[in-house]
Amino acid sequence: MACSHCHVESSPSRKETMSSQVAERIIQLISRTPTVKLVDITGGAPELHNMFRPLVLALSAMGKKIQDRCNLTVLLEPGQEDLIEFLATHQVDIVASLPCYEEANVRKQRGTGTFEKSIQALQLLNRWGYGQQENGKRKLYLVYNPVEPQLPGKQSTLEQQYKQQLAEKFGIQFDKLYCLTNMPIKRYRHDLIRQGKLDSYTSLLQQSFQAEHVQNVMCLDQIHIGYDGALYDCDFHYAVGLREKYQRNIWQVDNFDSLCNDHIQTAVHCFGCTAGFGSSCQGSLVSE
Ligand code: SF4
Ligand code: SF4
Repeated sequence: MACSHCHVESSPSRKETMSSQVAERIIQLISRTPTVKLVDITGGAPELHNMFRPLVLALSAMGKKIQDRCNLTVLLEPGQEDLIEFLATHQVDIVASLPCYEEANVRKQRGTGTFEKSIQALQLLNRWGYGQQENGKRKLYLVYNPVEPQLPGKQSTLEQQYKQQLAEKFGIQFDKLYCLTNMPIKRYRHDLIRQGKLDSYTSLLQQSFQAEHVQNVMCLDQIHIGYDGALYDCDFHYAVGLREKYQRNIWQVDNFDSLCNDHIQTAVHCFGCTAGFGSSCQGSLVSE
């Protein structure tokens, strides 16, 4: 996949991959850091990596909460027939991008044919107990990004619309919608430049700054680990190559607690997290 909003510029042509040594070191550091509650695994399509399942097994044995940023179509890939069962057995929650409940808008952002496959995959996840809120496990979160260069609306309102439309049209249930602001970096930045809208979009983010979000931005309690073990304050800094202040990697720390209270690097794209209702990997920063 090569989604137009993708801030990590992921696509099947990308060749970077995490080595087994890096994945094993991450497992070791997490085992030394009881304060790590949630491990959020992302790619590309992380499920296709040979260390994905060993990582999940190790984290599950440690009792960590695990989230898989899943592109949905991977669940239908030949050779991945047992993937859903694996995820469900180990209580891996799913976070999946679905920028709209209308086929045309999804096609515009994620490519032809993706919508049908995404719907099929969501129905399959429902059959495995994902998104059935009563069981409290196997959470299914959907992610919305605006298709046009504008800020997301109120998350709770959009979530209601998604729930109603997906249930009526396709019989799909999910737990929560995360509304994310598109970051004007990497592929989305190129897209904005092509449309002649980069300046107006970055101005919109800056003019929509809400100071109260600064205390809730995700970098205050999350870190990002690159495929090569380099450490970053967040996923967006990783995308633009902005390393954490001391430029450390996973072999230069004994556990992840040693990263607490460090100065966080800032950049112009930080306005993407603080604009409007605020934005993070867990959606809006406004508690509703
Ligand atoms: S599925 Fe996710 S990681 Fe892959 S290109 Fe789309 S936004 Fe990027
Ligand atoms: S972009 Fe800036 S504000 Fe947002 S998570 Fe990263 S460092 Fe924090």
